[in-house]
Amino acid sequence: MNMDRKEAVDCLKCSDCAVCCVAPDIASLNKPAGVPCEHLSADLRCRIYENRPEVCRNYLKDESCLLVQGPTMENRVSQYQVLFGIDP
Ligand code: SF4
Ligand code: SF4
Repeated sequence: MNMDRKEAVDCLKCSDCAVCCVAPDIASLNKPAGVPCEHLSADLRCRIYENRPEVCRNYLKDESCLLVQGPTMENRVSQYQVLFGIDP
């Protein structure tokens, strides 16, 4: 099957891996890099989803989500930080 880049991104599903709630630093939440957001539940859900800040609303799944897949959160966070050049 041939699929161009836009089609590939459009059909990419968020896997709810939550690495984007752990790996980056998020200034508006006063969250350092590599630390789980205080609003992330143990089962990796956002506890303030309806009222999550703009920065979270604007974060969209993209090809990087495929590149940070891994068996554990630690593994995914490490891959995310390498991909985005974040100092652990
Ligand atoms: S890193 Fe991508 S796939 Fe994982 S929760 Fe965030 S948006 Fe979804
Ligand atoms: S507020 Fe919710 S969506 Fe935003 S980083 Fe925290 S847990 Fe994730």
